[in-house]
Amino acid sequence: MAEKFDVVVIGSGSGGYAAAIRCAQRGASVAVIEKGLIGGTCLNCGCIPSKALLASAHTLLMTKHAAMMGVDIASANPNWPKMQGRKDAIVAGFVKGLTGLIQSHKVKILQGSAIVIAPNKIKIETEAAATEVQADKIILATGSQPIELPTIPFDGRTVISSKEALALEQIPRSMVIVGGGVIGCELACVYAAVGSKVTIVEALSQLIPMEDQWVGRLIEREFKKLGIDAVTGQKVASVDKADGPAKVVLENGWTIDAEKVLVSVGRRPVVDKETVEALNLEMSGPAIAVNQKMETNIPGVYAIGDVVGTTYLAHGAFAEAKAAAVNATGGDERIADYSLIPRAVYTFPEIASVGKTEQACKSEGLDVTVGRSFFKANGRNVAHNETVGEIRVVRDNSTNRIIGVTMVGAVVTELIAAARALLGSTEKITEVSFPHPTVSEVLKEAVEDAFGLSLHNPPKVL
Ligand SMILES: Cc1cc2nc3c(=O)[nH]c(=O)nc-3n(C[C@H](O)[C@H](O)[C@H](O)COP(=O)(O)OP(=O)(O)OC[C@H]3O[C@@H](n4cnc5c(N)ncnc54)[C@H](O)[C@@H]3O)c2cc1C
Repeated sequence: MAEKFDVVVIGSGSGGYAAAIRCAQRGASVAVIEKGLIGGTCLNCGCIPSKALLASAHTLLMTKHAAMMGVDIASANPNWPKMQGRKDAIVAGFVKGLTGLIQSHKVKILQGSAIVIAPNKIKIETEAAATEVQADKIILATGSQPIELPTIPFDGRTVISSKEALALEQIPRSMVIVGGGVIGCELACVYAAVGSKVTIVEALSQLIPMEDQWVGRLIEREFKKLGIDAVTGQKVASVDKADGPAKVVLENGWTIDAEKVLVSVGRRPVVDKETVEALNLEMSGPAIAVNQKMETNIPGVYAIGDVVGTTYLAHGAFAEAKAAAVNATGGDERIADYSLIPRAVYTFPEIASVGKTEQACKSEGLDVTVGRSFFKANGRNVAHNETVGEIRVVRDNSTNRIIGVTMVGAVVTELIAAARALLGSTEKITEVSFPHPTVSEVLKEAVEDAFGLSLHNPPKVL
């Protein structure tokens, strides 16, 4: 007799484990099936290892400013094996912790590759055997994988994805990064900081193309200071790996030498073909189609996270997981507005945004006022020698409410949750007291500026 659960979750990444725990908290018997490592992409080859390496790289960069801060340091050099070891230890610690956490909620972890063979029946394959489990409800959380370019396929050695780039044994002398989105730009910062000659090639007209143009320009300028070259509006045509460093040939004929070529042009949902066929699952391009309740076209089958192709963010997956878990256990919850899920990029400097961008407002024809405030005018930032960047707050003039915030600067990824809480606020919010001197005052000042009330900006013509 196949073991039976109220809910079976396939995949233990950000979406999968969050859904499993929430279902268990709501009283369901739950199993999570995982074919790889507990924690999925975010924990093993995404958010956490990239942030661990970025933190080491940032520490190294800070030492370069030590002398001007009045601290004499003889010399500072990257110890790459130690940086990698620290990153691996952080990941291993979280994997162990998460495994224990899942089990503490009485969620059963089943190792193997899952194929849904009917709306309430799942086959689990391992090298040794195949078993079956039954479920009243199924949540698909199978994640995504890097997109491969047919002209320059991954070979795991020279042409690599972010997974290999997070685990290189040596610092490459040179690296070309194909794709100037979030992952490409974060890894560019890591490798430039430790001494690689990094060139980013981006097909669109700016780095971090989903954000406003001013963000792309500012980042490109700051990247130059780190020694990162950016070639925008250009595509890579081919990579010649004949001998020595690879020769990356652009469509305009330029050639760039690179020991490693990191292709980071986006991610594609991992969708099991047999499951799609067995269930007759409706697709939306490469992703599983869902409604606002994370329901697929098959009653009792839900899908969340990267496999539904919405945010490609861990906290996007968390939000969808919660909705699916509530709905799979008798509740009623919907994801209303994806623009309210904050976006964060951990580059040097960082980028964070939430709500509508200025460009989106323009293309929608909205009448807006943009409040601005600069880190170079903030006491705490000047004290910390972190003066690059600014915050822009967008006010909808028709409703007099804040509808978007975009930030570039040090630690703005920590500020964006506060900015999220300000969305929908009116002028009244300017009465809230922010501690002085703190980085958060720049946010307050930008909000005040959006309402023409800034103390430290020249008068605004509204
Ligand atoms: C380099 C990098 C950096 C990133 N940084 C950030 C960041 O800073 N912040 C952020 O929010 N997001 C970040 N992301 C994105 C984030 O990692 C993903 O959005 C998130 O992991 C998606 O979670 P998920 O549960 O949908 O899928 P995943 O985490 O990919 O998990 C899917 C799991 O399903 C398993 N699986 C797949 N098929 C089957 C099957 N048939 N049977 C059993 N198991 C299966 C896989 O083995 C995997 O463990 C980053 C991604 C990368 C690559």
